[in-house]
Amino acid sequence: MSSVLIIGGGAAGMMAAIAAGYNGNEVHLFEKNDRLGKKIFITGKGRCNITNASSIENHFSNIIYNEKFLYSAYNNFSSEDICNMIESTGIETKIERGNRVFPLSDKSSDVIWALDKMMKDIGVNVHLKSEITKIENSNNKVILIDKHNNKFAGDKCIVATGGMSYETTGSTGDGYKFAEKMGHTVSKTYPSLVPFNIKEEMCKQLQGLSLKNIKLTITDEKGKVYFQEQGEMLFTHFGISGPLVLSASCYICDKFKEHDFYAYIDLKPALDKETLDKRILKDFNENINKNFNNSLDKLLPKKMIEPIIELCNIDPYKKVNEITKEEREILVENIKNIPLTISGTRGFNEAIITRGGISVKDINPKTMESKIVPNMYFVGEVLDLDAKTGGYNLQIAWSTGYLAGSSIY
Ligand SMILES: Cc1cc2nc3c(=O)[nH]c(=O)nc-3n(C[C@H](O)[C@H](O)[C@H](O)COP(=O)(O)OP(=O)(O)OC[C@H]3O[C@@H](n4cnc5c(N)ncnc54)[C@H](O)[C@@H]3O)c2cc1C
Repeated sequence: MSSVLIIGGGAAGMMAAIAAGYNGNEVHLFEKNDRLGKKIFITGKGRCNITNASSIENHFSNIIYNEKFLYSAYNNFSSEDICNMIESTGIETKIERGNRVFPLSDKSSDVIWALDKMMKDIGVNVHLKSEITKIENSNNKVILIDKHNNKFAGDKCIVATGGMSYETTGSTGDGYKFAEKMGHTVSKTYPSLVPFNIKEEMCKQLQGLSLKNIKLTITDEKGKVYFQEQGEMLFTHFGISGPLVLSASCYICDKFKEHDFYAYIDLKPALDKETLDKRILKDFNENINKNFNNSLDKLLPKKMIEPIIELCNIDPYKKVNEITKEEREILVENIKNIPLTISGTRGFNEAIITRGGISVKDINPKTMESKIVPNMYFVGEVLDLDAKTGGYNLQIAWSTGYLAGSSIY
């Protein structure tokens, strides 16, 4: 039996505490906030997308970098395991579109309650309002020092301090500093799963408009495609957001120094240019005596009509029967290719996750123990691991947290 000190009462830290506790260890968990799971509380818009009920292969295809590092962790503790564990406390779960798992109640607080209950049942000692500022390693012991200079000694330490996004939740990058000081490599961090600022004023005009079934393409200044997918997006006062945009950010969030990026929106991905032209002609024929700006109601969302006409540079009051073939071509082009200039991301405060972190090369994938400092373990988002939306990021926290905790006897 060991005494285990865990820094961070988020998803990874609580899971590590439960697993270490089940093994009969004496577990102390230190959380700087006055409550546990502050970030879990805001996940999935307050509903907590706990995991994704799909194969390990599917999880790996949604993890951006270093997925191979997670083989042992996922084989040891899968998405099914986290669901079974939470359900064992009486909290039921449900599976929604895209295999996303949520608590049946739609309340993230139920997930926190379940984890807290399991920790209480096995006697984990939780220290709230306990911000660790220093870690010392001496004589096979780990000593944690909090900001009031209290000292806690243990045999093993699990760092589960999370990344740097939404810092009001307590994730302020402390783990990176601890790891770096001990000689670990920490790769540069970037906000990811994050909305984009857009240069064009058009977004302000369109703010609040949500688009479904559109195609978003992201390219650099040379036209190289970094992302192309269909789905939902949203215009905001600063630019663009929504599921597609967040996913796109994974592919370019760390490349803004080297490239300029552009977003292209295809409002009608199901129609090729020729078919779309036929469709427009049909609408025009039905509105033959109307002004151009009154002829697009069936084709485009109302808010979109004015900006598209501006992009086409066609007189909005021109009669439909006077629109030329060339002008129709310009209209088709703009409906299928709205060009936007991405001026950057919204930063850590609006990022779902952090790209970068402690290099997985310094961590033993079979236990999560540091290869550099014995008795030190690192789990969750503090590691250089990140995934797309869909429950994949929390699964990284559950699996790595569980593996570390269950590796300690
Ligand atoms: C708005 C939002 C929505 C999200 N929705 C989802 C979703 O639905 N599904 C999904 O899979 N992922 C989601 N994520 C991502 C997911 O929440 C994180 O990947 C996950 O919480 C990481 O868990 P963690 O335990 O590693 O870190 P965190 O949850 O960040 O926990 C770290 C904890 O450590 C504490 N801490 C930090 N430093 C110290 C210190 N020095 N001393 C003591 N305590 C310290 C912090 O206060 C914090 O409680 C979302 C993220 C955000 C921001």
